[in-house]
Amino acid sequence: MIPQWIIEQKRDGGILEDSDIRAFIDGFTDGTIPDYQMSALAMAIFFKGMTDAETTILTDAMMRSGDLVDFKGWPRPTADKHSTGGIGDKLSLMIAPLAASAGLAIPMISGRGLGITGGTLDKLESIPGYNTRLSIDEFKRVIADVGCSIIGQTKHLAPADKKLYALRDVTGTVPSIPLITASIMSKKLAEGAETLVFDVKCGRAAFMKSPEQARALAESLTRVGSALHRKTAAVITDMNQPLGRTAGNAIEVIEAVETLRGKGPADTRLLTIELTAQITALSGIHPDLDTARCELTKHLDSGRALEVFRRMVMAQGGDPRFIDDPTALPQPGYTLEVRATSNGYVADVDALAIGRIVLQLGGGRTKTDDVIDPSSGIDSLVQQGDHIEKGQPLMRLLAKNKSLAESQLNIALASITLTPVNPGMRKLILDRLL
Ligand code: URA
Repeated sequence: MIPQWIIEQKRDGGILEDSDIRAFIDGFTDGTIPDYQMSALAMAIFFKGMTDAETTILTDAMMRSGDLVDFKGWPRPTADKHSTGGIGDKLSLMIAPLAASAGLAIPMISGRGLGITGGTLDKLESIPGYNTRLSIDEFKRVIADVGCSIIGQTKHLAPADKKLYALRDVTGTVPSIPLITASIMSKKLAEGAETLVFDVKCGRAAFMKSPEQARALAESLTRVGSALHRKTAAVITDMNQPLGRTAGNAIEVIEAVETLRGKGPADTRLLTIELTAQITALSGIHPDLDTARCELTKHLDSGRALEVFRRMVMAQGGDPRFIDDPTALPQPGYTLEVRATSNGYVADVDALAIGRIVLQLGGGRTKTDDVIDPSSGIDSLVQQGDHIEKGQPLMRLLAKNKSLAESQLNIALASITLTPVNPGMRKLILDRLL
Protein backbone atom coordinates (compact mmCIF):
# COMPACT_ATOMS: atom_id res chain seq x y z
CA MET A 1 0.00 0.00 0.00
CA ILE A 2 1.43 3.35 -1.04
CA PRO A 3 -0.09 6.03 1.28
CA GLN A 4 0.00 8.86 -1.25
CA TRP A 5 -1.94 6.77 -3.80
CA ILE A 6 -4.71 6.23 -1.22
CA ILE A 7 -4.77 9.97 -0.45
CA GLU A 8 -4.94 10.78 -4.19
CA GLN A 9 -7.74 8.28 -4.73
CA LYS A 10 -9.88 9.87 -2.01
CA ARG A 11 -8.91 13.39 -3.10
CA ASP A 12 -10.33 12.56 -6.54
CA GLY A 13 -13.58 11.22 -5.07
CA GLY A 14 -12.79 7.51 -5.35
CA ILE A 15 -13.98 4.71 -3.09
CA LEU A 16 -11.20 3.13 -1.03
CA GLU A 17 -10.56 -0.62 -0.79
CA ASP A 18 -11.19 -2.19 2.62
CA SER A 19 -7.60 -3.47 2.80
CA ASP A 20 -6.22 0.01 2.03
CA ILE A 21 -8.27 1.65 4.79
CA ARG A 22 -7.13 -0.99 7.28
CA ALA A 23 -3.47 -0.74 6.22
CA PHE A 24 -3.57 3.06 6.47
CA ILE A 25 -5.01 3.00 10.02
CA ASP A 26 -2.58 0.26 11.11
CA GLY A 27 0.35 2.25 9.71
CA PHE A 28 -0.84 5.47 11.38
CA THR A 29 -1.29 3.68 14.72
CA ASP A 30 2.20 2.13 14.69
CA GLY A 31 3.84 5.32 13.40
CA THR A 32 4.93 4.07 9.96
CA ILE A 33 2.46 6.46 8.32
CA PRO A 34 3.36 9.99 9.44
CA ASP A 35 0.90 12.58 10.76
CA TYR A 36 1.11 14.65 7.56
CA GLN A 37 -0.18 11.79 5.42
CA MET A 38 -2.97 10.97 7.89
CA SER A 39 -3.91 14.69 7.97
CA ALA A 40 -4.04 14.79 4.17
CA LEU A 41 -6.29 11.74 4.06
CA ALA A 42 -8.55 13.26 6.77
CA MET A 43 -8.86 16.43 4.67
CA ALA A 44 -9.66 14.40 1.55
CA ILE A 45 -12.36 12.54 3.54
CA PHE A 46 -13.63 15.88 4.84
CA PHE A 47 -14.18 17.14 1.26
CA LYS A 48 -15.17 13.95 -0.56
CA GLY A 49 -16.95 12.01 2.22
CA MET A 50 -17.12 8.24 2.52
CA THR A 51 -19.74 5.63 1.69
CA ASP A 52 -21.36 3.79 4.61
CA ALA A 53 -19.25 0.75 3.69
CA GLU A 54 -16.01 2.78 3.84
CA THR A 55 -17.05 4.42 7.15
CA THR A 56 -17.82 0.97 8.59
CA ILE A 57 -14.36 -0.35 7.67
CA LEU A 58 -12.68 2.81 9.00
CA THR A 59 -14.60 2.38 12.28
CA ASP A 60 -13.73 -1.30 12.52
CA ALA A 61 -10.04 -0.64 11.80
CA MET A 62 -9.91 2.12 14.45
CA MET A 63 -11.74 -0.07 16.98
CA ARG A 64 -9.22 -2.88 16.39
CA SER A 65 -6.21 -0.54 16.82
CA GLY A 66 -6.18 -1.38 20.56
CA ASP A 67 -7.75 -3.59 23.25
CA LEU A 68 -11.31 -4.84 22.98
CA VAL A 69 -13.33 -5.31 26.17
CA ASP A 70 -15.06 -8.67 26.02
CA PHE A 71 -18.32 -9.43 27.83
CA LYS A 72 -19.05 -12.73 26.09
CA GLY A 73 -20.83 -15.18 28.38
CA TRP A 74 -22.00 -12.48 30.83
CA PRO A 75 -25.42 -13.15 32.36
CA ARG A 76 -26.71 -9.60 31.73
CA PRO A 77 -26.99 -7.91 28.32
CA THR A 78 -24.56 -5.00 27.89
CA ALA A 79 -25.53 -1.53 26.68
CA ASP A 80 -24.39 2.09 26.66
CA LYS A 81 -25.51 5.51 25.48
CA HIS A 82 -23.44 8.22 23.86
CA SER A 83 -24.19 11.92 23.82
CA THR A 84 -22.58 14.27 21.33
CA GLY A 85 -22.34 16.77 24.21
CA GLY A 86 -23.95 19.91 25.47
CA ILE A 87 -24.49 22.30 28.37
CA GLY A 88 -25.95 20.89 31.60
CA ASP A 89 -25.90 17.39 30.10
CA LYS A 90 -25.53 15.22 33.20
CA LEU A 91 -27.62 12.38 31.77
CA SER A 92 -24.91 9.69 31.94
CA LEU A 93 -24.84 10.01 35.73
CA MET A 94 -28.49 8.94 35.90
CA ILE A 95 -28.81 6.68 32.85
CA ALA A 96 -25.99 4.26 33.82
CA PRO A 97 -27.42 3.41 37.30
CA LEU A 98 -31.03 3.51 36.09
CA ALA A 99 -30.34 1.04 33.27
CA ALA A 100 -28.31 -1.13 35.66
CA SER A 101 -31.17 -1.09 38.17
CA ALA A 102 -33.36 -2.59 35.42
CA GLY A 103 -30.95 -5.50 34.90
CA LEU A 104 -28.44 -4.35 32.27
CA ALA A 105 -24.65 -4.27 32.50
CA ILE A 106 -23.44 -0.76 31.56
CA PRO A 107 -19.76 -0.35 30.64
CA MET A 108 -19.53 3.41 30.16
CA ILE A 109 -16.29 5.02 28.99
CA SER A 110 -16.71 8.79 29.07
CA GLY A 111 -14.77 11.87 28.14
CA ARG A 112 -13.72 15.18 29.62
CA GLY A 113 -15.20 18.51 28.72
CA LEU A 114 -13.45 20.64 26.13
CA GLY A 115 -14.43 24.15 25.16
CA ILE A 116 -17.91 24.95 26.39
CA THR A 117 -19.08 21.34 26.42
CA GLY A 118 -19.07 19.66 29.82
CA GLY A 119 -17.65 16.18 30.38
CA THR A 120 -19.00 13.35 32.52
CA LEU A 121 -15.52 12.53 33.86
CA ASP A 122 -15.01 16.06 35.19
CA LYS A 123 -18.38 15.93 36.92
CA LEU A 124 -17.56 12.58 38.55
CA GLU A 125 -14.11 13.77 39.59
CA SER A 126 -15.73 16.46 41.72
CA ILE A 127 -16.71 13.56 44.03
CA PRO A 128 -13.91 13.19 46.62
CA GLY A 129 -11.99 9.95 45.98
CA TYR A 130 -13.87 8.84 42.84
CA ASN A 131 -11.39 7.04 40.57
CA THR A 132 -12.06 7.38 36.83
CA ARG A 133 -8.83 5.54 35.91
CA LEU A 134 -9.67 1.92 36.58
CA SER A 135 -7.92 -0.86 34.67
CA ILE A 136 -10.19 -2.84 32.35
CA ASP A 137 -10.20 -5.75 34.87
CA GLU A 138 -11.28 -3.41 37.69
CA PHE A 139 -13.87 -1.84 35.37
CA LYS A 140 -15.36 -5.26 34.66
CA ARG A 141 -15.32 -6.16 38.37
CA VAL A 142 -17.32 -3.02 39.27
CA ILE A 143 -19.83 -3.76 36.49
CA ALA A 144 -20.17 -7.37 37.71
CA ASP A 145 -20.75 -6.21 41.33
CA VAL A 146 -22.84 -3.09 40.80
CA GLY A 147 -24.23 -3.27 37.24
CA CYS A 148 -22.47 -0.17 35.90
CA SER A 149 -19.17 1.67 35.92
CA ILE A 150 -18.13 5.00 34.43
CA ILE A 151 -14.43 5.52 33.70
CA GLY A 152 -12.18 7.48 31.30
CA GLN A 153 -10.69 6.23 28.05
CA THR A 154 -7.55 4.15 28.64
CA LYS A 155 -4.61 4.64 26.30
CA HIS A 156 -5.04 1.09 25.01
CA LEU A 157 -8.64 1.60 23.86
CA ALA A 158 -8.98 2.74 20.21
CA PRO A 159 -5.54 4.46 20.21
CA ALA A 160 -5.95 5.29 16.49
CA ASP A 161 -8.85 7.54 17.45
CA LYS A 162 -6.88 9.29 20.17
CA LYS A 163 -4.09 10.10 17.68
CA LEU A 164 -6.43 11.00 14.85
CA TYR A 165 -8.70 13.18 16.99
CA ALA A 166 -5.68 15.22 18.11
CA LEU A 167 -4.69 15.72 14.46
CA ARG A 168 -8.23 16.61 13.35
CA ASP A 169 -8.43 19.16 16.11
CA VAL A 170 -5.53 21.14 14.61
CA THR A 171 -6.13 20.52 10.89
CA GLY A 172 -9.72 21.72 10.50
CA THR A 173 -11.08 18.21 9.94
CA VAL A 174 -13.32 17.72 12.98
CA PRO A 175 -16.75 18.41 11.39
CA SER A 176 -16.83 15.47 8.98
CA ILE A 177 -19.63 12.94 9.45
CA PRO A 178 -17.60 9.83 8.47
CA LEU A 179 -14.71 10.92 10.72
CA ILE A 180 -16.99 11.77 13.66
CA THR A 181 -18.84 8.47 13.21
CA ALA A 182 -15.64 6.41 13.15
CA SER A 183 -14.27 8.33 16.13
CA ILE A 184 -17.35 7.92 18.35
CA MET A 185 -18.15 4.38 17.26
CA SER A 186 -14.62 2.95 17.46
CA LYS A 187 -14.48 3.82 21.19
CA LYS A 188 -18.03 2.68 21.92
CA LEU A 189 -17.55 -0.62 20.07
CA ALA A 190 -14.21 -1.31 21.76
CA GLU A 191 -15.89 -1.04 25.15
CA GLY A 192 -17.98 -4.10 24.27
CA ALA A 193 -21.62 -2.94 24.63
CA GLU A 194 -24.14 -4.87 22.50
CA THR A 195 -26.75 -2.09 22.44
CA LEU A 196 -25.95 1.56 21.79
CA VAL A 197 -28.31 4.51 22.05
CA PHE A 198 -27.16 7.90 20.77
CA ASP A 199 -28.32 11.27 22.05
CA VAL A 200 -27.42 13.54 19.15
CA LYS A 201 -27.65 17.11 20.39
CA CYS A 202 -28.77 19.81 18.00
CA GLY A 203 -28.62 23.59 18.32
CA ARG A 204 -26.36 26.56 18.95
CA ALA A 205 -24.40 24.91 21.81
CA ALA A 206 -24.08 21.56 20.02
CA PHE A 207 -21.63 20.18 17.51
CA MET A 208 -24.49 19.78 15.02
CA LYS A 209 -26.26 23.11 14.58
CA SER A 210 -29.18 22.15 12.34
CA PRO A 211 -31.71 19.29 12.57
CA GLU A 212 -30.54 18.13 9.10
CA GLN A 213 -26.91 17.83 10.25
CA ALA A 214 -27.96 16.10 13.47
CA ARG A 215 -30.10 13.63 11.54
CA ALA A 216 -27.28 12.89 9.09
CA LEU A 217 -24.93 12.10 11.99
CA ALA A 218 -27.58 10.02 13.78
CA GLU A 219 -28.21 8.02 10.59
CA SER A 220 -24.51 7.45 10.04
CA LEU A 221 -24.00 6.27 13.65
CA THR A 222 -26.94 3.88 13.61
CA ARG A 223 -26.13 2.47 10.15
CA VAL A 224 -22.49 1.79 11.04
CA GLY A 225 -23.58 0.29 14.38
CA SER A 226 -25.97 -2.07 12.61
CA ALA A 227 -23.36 -3.03 10.03
CA LEU A 228 -21.07 -3.98 12.93
CA HIS A 229 -23.83 -6.11 14.53
CA ARG A 230 -24.92 -3.78 17.33
CA LYS A 231 -28.48 -2.86 18.19
CA THR A 232 -28.71 0.90 17.80
CA ALA A 233 -31.18 3.76 18.14
CA ALA A 234 -30.78 7.54 18.17
CA VAL A 235 -32.73 10.43 19.60
CA ILE A 236 -32.11 13.99 18.42
CA THR A 237 -32.54 16.48 21.28
CA ASP A 238 -32.50 20.25 21.57
CA MET A 239 -29.31 21.98 22.66
CA ASN A 240 -30.28 25.60 22.01
CA GLN A 241 -31.03 25.81 25.74
CA PRO A 242 -29.22 24.02 28.58
CA LEU A 243 -30.52 20.82 30.11
CA GLY A 244 -31.79 21.20 33.67
CA ARG A 245 -31.25 24.08 36.05
CA THR A 246 -27.52 23.63 36.66
CA ALA A 247 -24.35 23.81 34.57
CA GLY A 248 -20.88 23.05 35.91
CA ASN A 249 -19.39 20.03 37.63
CA ALA A 250 -20.14 19.44 41.35
CA ILE A 251 -23.41 21.31 40.93
CA GLU A 252 -24.50 18.96 38.13
CA VAL A 253 -23.71 15.96 40.34
CA ILE A 254 -26.13 17.42 42.92
CA GLU A 255 -28.86 17.79 40.27
CA ALA A 256 -28.17 14.21 39.10
CA VAL A 257 -28.71 12.95 42.66
CA GLU A 258 -32.00 14.90 42.90
CA THR A 259 -33.14 13.30 39.63
CA LEU A 260 -32.12 9.86 40.91
CA ARG A 261 -34.28 10.57 43.97
CA GLY A 262 -37.31 10.93 41.66
CA LYS A 263 -37.16 14.74 41.73
CA GLY A 264 -35.06 17.07 39.56
CA PRO A 265 -36.14 19.34 36.69
CA ALA A 266 -38.83 18.00 34.35
CA ASP A 267 -36.62 18.08 31.22
CA THR A 268 -33.79 16.19 32.94
CA ARG A 269 -36.17 13.56 34.30
CA LEU A 270 -37.93 13.17 30.95
CA LEU A 271 -34.74 12.61 28.95
CA THR A 272 -33.31 10.29 31.61
CA ILE A 273 -36.37 8.06 31.39
CA GLU A 274 -36.70 8.36 27.62
CA LEU A 275 -33.11 7.46 26.74
CA THR A 276 -32.93 4.68 29.32
CA ALA A 277 -36.23 3.31 28.00
CA GLN A 278 -34.70 3.18 24.50
CA ILE A 279 -31.79 1.20 25.93
CA THR A 280 -33.83 -1.29 27.99
CA ALA A 281 -36.45 -1.86 25.27
CA LEU A 282 -33.81 -2.34 22.56
CA SER A 283 -31.84 -4.75 24.79
CA GLY A 284 -34.95 -6.85 25.42
CA ILE A 285 -35.10 -6.10 29.17
CA HIS A 286 -38.55 -4.55 28.63
CA PRO A 287 -40.98 -5.71 25.92
CA ASP A 288 -41.75 -2.20 24.60
CA LEU A 289 -41.08 1.48 25.21
CA ASP A 290 -44.23 2.16 27.23
CA THR A 291 -43.50 -0.67 29.67
CA ALA A 292 -39.90 0.52 29.87
CA ARG A 293 -40.95 4.11 30.72
CA CYS A 294 -43.35 2.87 33.37
CA GLU A 295 -40.86 0.47 35.03
CA LEU A 296 -38.00 2.96 34.94
CA THR A 297 -40.16 5.65 36.52
CA LYS A 298 -40.70 3.25 39.44
CA HIS A 299 -36.93 2.64 39.73
CA LEU A 300 -36.32 6.38 39.92
CA ASP A 301 -39.13 7.16 42.33
CA SER A 302 -38.35 4.27 44.70
CA GLY A 303 -34.68 5.28 45.02
CA ARG A 304 -33.54 1.96 43.51
CA ALA A 305 -31.47 3.69 40.80
CA LEU A 306 -29.96 6.04 43.41
CA GLU A 307 -28.78 3.01 45.42
CA VAL A 308 -26.99 1.65 42.32
CA PHE A 309 -25.34 5.06 41.86
CA ARG A 310 -24.24 5.06 45.54
CA ARG A 311 -22.73 1.58 45.16
CA MET A 312 -20.93 2.59 41.94
CA VAL A 313 -19.42 5.65 43.64
CA MET A 314 -18.22 3.53 46.58
CA ALA A 315 -16.89 0.74 44.32
CA GLN A 316 -14.76 3.37 42.53
CA GLY A 317 -13.33 4.77 45.75
CA GLY A 318 -15.66 7.77 46.09
CA ASP A 319 -16.94 9.12 49.40
CA PRO A 320 -20.76 8.80 49.12
CA ARG A 321 -21.56 11.38 51.84
CA PHE A 322 -22.51 14.01 49.23
CA ILE A 323 -25.58 11.94 48.31
CA ASP A 324 -27.23 12.91 51.59
CA ASP A 325 -25.21 16.06 52.23
CA PRO A 326 -24.39 18.12 49.09
CA THR A 327 -21.96 20.29 51.10
CA ALA A 328 -19.57 17.31 51.06
CA LEU A 329 -18.78 18.29 47.44
CA PRO A 330 -16.42 21.22 46.66
CA GLN A 331 -18.12 24.52 47.55
CA PRO A 332 -17.78 27.86 45.69
CA GLY A 333 -16.04 30.74 47.45
CA TYR A 334 -18.68 33.25 46.36
CA THR A 335 -22.22 33.11 44.95
CA LEU A 336 -24.05 35.87 43.09
CA GLU A 337 -27.73 35.98 42.20
CA VAL A 338 -28.52 37.43 38.76
CA ARG A 339 -31.86 39.25 39.08
CA ALA A 340 -34.43 40.06 36.37
CA THR A 341 -34.69 43.71 35.38
CA SER A 342 -38.32 43.33 34.18
CA ASN A 343 -41.33 41.02 34.46
CA GLY A 344 -42.08 38.33 31.91
CA TYR A 345 -42.01 34.71 30.80
CA VAL A 346 -38.69 33.09 29.94
CA ALA A 347 -38.66 32.70 26.15
CA ASP A 348 -35.00 31.69 25.74
CA VAL A 349 -31.95 30.64 27.74
CA ASP A 350 -28.89 30.85 25.49
CA ALA A 351 -26.98 27.61 26.06
CA LEU A 352 -23.92 28.91 24.24
CA ALA A 353 -23.72 31.94 26.55
CA ILE A 354 -24.32 29.74 29.62
CA GLY A 355 -21.52 27.39 28.51
CA ARG A 356 -19.16 30.34 28.02
CA ILE A 357 -19.99 31.72 31.47
CA VAL A 358 -19.24 28.35 33.11
CA LEU A 359 -15.94 28.24 31.22
CA GLN A 360 -15.04 31.79 32.34
CA LEU A 361 -15.93 30.94 35.93
CA GLY A 362 -13.36 28.12 35.82
CA GLY A 363 -15.68 25.16 35.25
CA GLY A 364 -14.37 24.31 31.77
CA ARG A 365 -11.21 24.06 29.71
CA THR A 366 -9.83 25.66 26.57
CA LYS A 367 -6.83 23.27 26.45
CA THR A 368 -6.89 19.59 27.35
CA ASP A 369 -4.42 20.10 30.25
CA ASP A 370 -6.25 23.06 31.89
CA VAL A 371 -7.20 22.41 35.54
CA ILE A 372 -10.87 23.06 36.26
CA ASP A 373 -12.51 24.40 39.41
CA PRO A 374 -15.16 21.74 40.23
CA SER A 375 -17.15 24.05 42.53
CA SER A 376 -17.86 26.76 39.95
CA GLY A 377 -20.84 26.94 37.62
CA ILE A 378 -24.47 27.98 37.63
CA ASP A 379 -27.50 26.79 39.58
CA SER A 380 -31.15 27.86 40.02
CA LEU A 381 -31.27 28.58 36.29
CA VAL A 382 -34.66 29.57 34.89
CA GLN A 383 -36.16 27.55 32.04
CA GLN A 384 -38.37 28.43 29.08
CA GLY A 385 -41.95 29.05 30.22
CA ASP A 386 -41.04 30.13 33.80
CA HIS A 387 -42.78 33.32 34.95
CA ILE A 388 -40.43 35.87 36.48
CA GLU A 389 -41.09 39.11 38.34
CA LYS A 390 -38.65 42.02 38.22
CA GLY A 391 -35.99 41.48 40.92
CA GLN A 392 -36.41 37.68 41.06
CA PRO A 393 -33.32 35.52 40.41
CA LEU A 394 -32.70 34.24 36.88
CA MET A 395 -29.74 32.13 37.98
CA ARG A 396 -27.01 31.98 40.61
CA LEU A 397 -23.35 32.23 39.63
CA LEU A 398 -20.98 30.00 41.63
CA ALA A 399 -17.41 31.28 41.57
CA LYS A 400 -14.10 31.24 43.36
CA ASN A 401 -14.41 34.92 44.27
CA LYS A 402 -16.55 38.06 43.97
CA SER A 403 -14.71 39.68 41.06
CA LEU A 404 -14.90 36.54 38.92
CA ALA A 405 -18.65 36.24 39.58
CA GLU A 406 -19.26 39.95 38.88
CA SER A 407 -17.32 39.76 35.60
CA GLN A 408 -20.06 37.49 34.23
CA LEU A 409 -23.10 39.39 35.53
CA ASN A 410 -24.01 41.32 32.35
CA ILE A 411 -23.38 38.33 30.08
CA ALA A 412 -25.62 36.25 32.35
CA LEU A 413 -28.38 38.87 32.19
CA ALA A 414 -28.14 39.03 28.38
CA SER A 415 -28.37 35.23 28.09
CA ILE A 416 -32.03 35.20 29.21
CA THR A 417 -34.84 36.55 27.02
CA LEU A 418 -38.16 37.45 28.66
CA THR A 419 -41.43 38.04 26.75
CA PRO A 420 -44.87 39.18 27.92
CA VAL A 421 -46.59 36.09 26.45
CA ASN A 422 -45.96 32.57 27.79
CA PRO A 423 -44.09 30.65 25.04
CA GLY A 424 -44.80 27.29 26.74
CA MET A 425 -42.18 24.61 27.35
CA ARG A 426 -39.61 23.98 24.67
CA LYS A 427 -39.66 20.92 22.42
CA LEU A 428 -36.89 18.73 23.83
CA ILE A 429 -37.02 15.65 21.60
CA LEU A 430 -36.76 16.76 17.98
CA ASP A 431 -36.56 13.43 16.17
CA ARG A 432 -35.99 9.70 16.70
CA LEU A 433 -34.31 6.96 14.67
CA LEU A 434 -35.47 3.64 16.01
N1 URA B 1 -16.69 13.06 19.81
C1 URA B 1 -15.78 12.14 19.47
O1 URA B 1 -15.45 11.26 20.24
N2 URA B 1 -15.22 12.23 18.25
C2 URA B 1 -15.54 13.17 17.35
O2 URA B 1 -15.01 13.18 16.26
C3 URA B 1 -16.49 14.12 17.72
C4 URA B 1 -17.06 14.04 18.96
